[in-house]
Amino acid sequence: MIVEKKYKCQTCFTNNLIDIELSFCSETVDLIEDCTICCNPNTISYTSENEKVVYFEVLKTY
Ligand SMILES: [Zn+2]
Repeated sequence: MIVEKKYKCQTCFTNNLIDIELSFCSETVDLIEDCTICCNPNTISYTSENEKVVYFEVLKTY
């Protein structure tokens, strides 16, 4: 299942959207996404369990 999730860019603090895949197994996924406004990268880590997001974090990427 793919869902759209909102995250805040850690450089310009604009809300961006990201498509994430939810699954039944629990494993942490790390993604690097470029902000659509300022083009700075953000590292997104998330964990899903039973098709729900149980952990979601955005970190500034240098
Ligand atoms: Zn930004």
